Amino acid sequence: MKTPKSMMKVRCECGAEILLLPDVKEMSSAIEVHIALHLEGVLGQPCTAEEADRLRDELIIQIFRLAGESEEEKEEEEEESK
Ligand SMILES: [Zn+2]
Repeated sequence: MKTPKSMMKVRCECGAEILLLPDVKEMSSAIEVHIALHLEGVLGQPCTAEEADRLRDELIIQIFRLAGESEEEKEEEEEESK
């Protein structure tokens, strides 16, 4: 069974899941909010700026991967409607 697009999530190394949002600005602020939790030590040991950058990159890579998958689906749908 496929996961509906609206339910797609990216998972941080800490195990937290961030819901994939269609709005880029909202998505990036959701990431920043989560990264800030790491920097502030809310999730355990405060992480370094380098570690925060790495976690952010990991999340962004996952987002691009998911976005790429849904883009392919869209193209297929367009093909079918022709
Ligand atoms: Zn995290």
